[in-house]
Amino acid sequence: TPLLRLAHIQAGYQQTPILKDMTTVIQKGEMTAIVGQNGAGKSTLIKLICGFLQPTAGTLLYKEEDFTKASIKERADKIGYVMQNPNQMISQTMIFDEVALGLRLRQVAEDEIKTRVYEALKICGLYPYRNWPIQALSYGQKKRVTIASMLVLQPEILILDEPTAGQDYAHYTKMMSFLESLNRQGITILMVTHDMHLMLEYTNRALVIVDGKLIADIQPADLLTNEALIEQASLKATSLYY
Ligand code: ADP
Ligand code: MG
Ligand code: MG
Repeated sequence: TPLLRLAHIQAGYQQTPILKDMTTVIQKGEMTAIVGQNGAGKSTLIKLICGFLQPTAGTLLYKEEDFTKASIKERADKIGYVMQNPNQMISQTMIFDEVALGLRLRQVAEDEIKTRVYEALKICGLYPYRNWPIQALSYGQKKRVTIASMLVLQPEILILDEPTAGQDYAHYTKMMSFLESLNRQGITILMVTHDMHLMLEYTNRALVIVDGKLIADIQPADLLTNEALIEQASLKATSLYY
């Protein structure tokens, strides 16, 4: 089943076009990597899907329903958006309150909030810290708090902007296997990266973006061995082989 369908999307900032005629479908259950060099338009694409940017042309469908003009809040009930920097997303002092925030805004009853927050914290390996201040956590754990705060809203799809950026190898593989386990539990995952090798090992589809255009939709293993495509997309060979 198609979850997201982008048809001939164009978008940009002020007079500068960034996304150029983007057409693609994200199917339920997929774990997709969006790759491309810095400035290619990866973050712009996910901001557009999450409603932080309006297209100048084209349509966006969610489960085949027109979502092109849906509000950010309307989208947030279906699409979890995890920004690159967790510190930009966190507004509360305590872990529980941060994860509960979206449910409180939706006026869910406190006892149900407790159940759902604990469940999300367990999935994210944060349950032992449920009564801790966020300040006490590492960067990677904060990232998982922001993921938990999306999971409580029970999205069908999680969109993550460079979920492993700024993390060392151990945290990198930990984060990726965590996302893989969420995917196995039925959550569709779309994530941006420009570090390719391990990321592609964990995903089952790669969308390659060059200058705001989708130039390839390919199996990760085929991308890793396609020198011409790697060259064309200026994907760094150094990040292919750690
Ligand atoms: P990526 O995530 O692939 O590195 P972005 O989507 O962030 O790339 O950026 C694509 C292009 O849009 C870049 O040229 C960037 O400078 C430009 N851009 C990004 N955000 C803004 C903004 N808020 N205003 C103007 N230009 C922007
Ligand atoms: Mg960038
Ligand atoms: Mg980016």
